[in-house]
Amino acid sequence: MAPLRQVACASPNHDARPAGASVDILVLHYTGMKTAEEALARLCDPAAKVSAHYTIDRAGTVYVHVPEERRAWHAGVSYWAGERNVNARSIGIELVNSGHEFGYVPFTDDQIAALIDLAGGIVSRHPIPPARVLGHSDVAPARKTDPGELFPWARLAEYGIGAWPGFAAASPGKPEKFAADLARYGYDPDAPLHDVVAAFQRHFRPSCVNGIADDECAALLAGLLAL
Ligand SMILES: [Zn+2]
Repeated sequence: MAPLRQVACASPNHDARPAGASVDILVLHYTGMKTAEEALARLCDPAAKVSAHYTIDRAGTVYVHVPEERRAWHAGVSYWAGERNVNARSIGIELVNSGHEFGYVPFTDDQIAALIDLAGGIVSRHPIPPARVLGHSDVAPARKTDPGELFPWARLAEYGIGAWPGFAAASPGKPEKFAADLARYGYDPDAPLHDVVAAFQRHFRPSCVNGIADDECAALLAGLLAL
């Protein structure tokens, strides 16, 4: 693999992590803006009060915004597995993509190769288990749809980045327990169920994102809970 191309692109939008907060979540985003230049400018604009630790453009160049030991401001109001301050304990990576609002397109091979390299380093430097490598939509299902159903989660999982239910067919799953099982996996039990099911589908069953739990979703979730 070619060495990572990294470019310094410091953002002022960060602060100290709370005392005792260890980094154990990785959150992936898309930028959702028309151009990379526009997205990078916003992530570094003090007035915008948003940032991420890294942005990866479509050629695979990594822009370094915030040191990993600092808290970047990427997830906003969010929840995972009992934690409502996801920024406090996470690393955030933005992928340049104009997104559902401005023209959602597949991520490029160069972009994903750079992400695998960058994220592989992050999950080895910090105690981030596969089930805590998440999309923004997983931690903010009522507000966000990024990185979206075109994001290649299965490919990342081949490199040990993120969880993927490998033996779903062998797990029957119980639709009637689906809401409780989503919460057990980490999703916000207080978010609207339709939004949480859609977020789950966007991540683990991208061929049909309709917010309606079905037997396949139940089997996939049972597979994840059994990992
Ligand atoms: Zn996002």
